[in-house]
Amino acid sequence: MMASKNSSSPVLMAICCYGSEAVIISICEDTTLDQIFKKIVERWRHLSSTMIEIKFYISNKSRMLVTLISDKDVHNMHQIHVNLNAAVIEMVVTHSPSLIEAADVVINTSGSSHGAEISWRSKNISKSSSSNFVQVVEETRAAIEEEGSQRNSLDAWKSCIEGVGQEFRNVETLHDSIRNFCIANCRDFVFMKNDRERVTVECAYEECEWRIHASRLGNGEKFAIKKMNGNHTCGGGMQVRSHPKASKRWVSNIVKDKLQDMPLYKPTDIVKDIRREYGVQLPYHQAWHGKELAMKEIYDDRSLSYDRIRWYCDAIVQTNPGSITKYETIEGRFRRLFICFHASLLGFIKGCRPLIFMDGTFIKHKDGGVLLGATAKDGNDDMFPIAYGVVDTETDENWEWFC
Ligand SMILES: [Zn+2]
Repeated sequence: MMASKNSSSPVLMAICCYGSEAVIISICEDTTLDQIFKKIVERWRHLSSTMIEIKFYISNKSRMLVTLISDKDVHNMHQIHVNLNAAVIEMVVTHSPSLIEAADVVINTSGSSHGAEISWRSKNISKSSSSNFVQVVEETRAAIEEEGSQRNSLDAWKSCIEGVGQEFRNVETLHDSIRNFCIANCRDFVFMKNDRERVTVECAYEECEWRIHASRLGNGEKFAIKKMNGNHTCGGGMQVRSHPKASKRWVSNIVKDKLQDMPLYKPTDIVKDIRREYGVQLPYHQAWHGKELAMKEIYDDRSLSYDRIRWYCDAIVQTNPGSITKYETIEGRFRRLFICFHASLLGFIKGCRPLIFMDGTFIKHKDGGVLLGATAKDGNDDMFPIAYGVVDTETDENWEWFC
């Protein structure tokens, strides 16, 4: 709610237009600029507060537009309309000029092959807004590139084996390329030779003449294709959607990047995405093993991460003096962990209502456990985390320990 319940100052209605649409926002003397942004972004979800500017018309004949930059501006806008006895405020949402410049920059640099630097044309952009824009621009570009690379990867795989003379960084890259090539072309293969010096693969159908032979270049790690017969004499390829070479290693290579952004990426979604993007039907367990392998490569073996908890607790106390950490084990096994950062404690004391909300939730992890949290509400009525803990089970004893 934007209207202040106990304010004696009148609440005014603002009609806020964006293009041919409008949203009505109530404005009182305490309304903040953030609250207005929030309302606008809720209404037009494709907008973000870094993309737009909000302006209002001064309610007189001049129809002059004033940009809202701070909470003080919002307060003044309210005051002017109260003084002029105007019941309605007219506001417009426009695209921020710095975003338009940022878009120019994107267009200018997108043709470059080596990640061109973003240079700002205008010196007027404030440092914080320019860094926001750099972030927005980078994120957008990354999203576009990612989408493009996924769409094209199957096509790229279809021709990733070019022929005699093609070099590969190492034997793993050669294996991956052959596997991707065969999956994309719906073919199966068998290794005839696979050692430190030579790799020979043939079509899985014995009569077929398709064959690749590669060997190591000198004493280095590189491999190159020495002989290749690219013609299948076995017919039209595999007619089933599952592929015997869609191994957990293959799945892991595909999902690794996505897992870094979405650690909760589910095996069922992996099955769906791989079927849609690569045309390969995976059994659930293969997606699960692929995800596990990728997680292991990204985060190392997670069972080893328990060893680092003590180091982490010490590091928190050293780098955030005044923080509280507690860690207990039982016969060398994890039992419970409590972490409260000094800044959270201070924020609670200085800026929150003296009320603490406690709750716990089960951790969806193969080791189980329960996450306990203590939260408060800040001046904006938003959640303010104070402390959290991880315990083996949700018992009265663990709750008492946490409190
Ligand atoms: Zn064949």
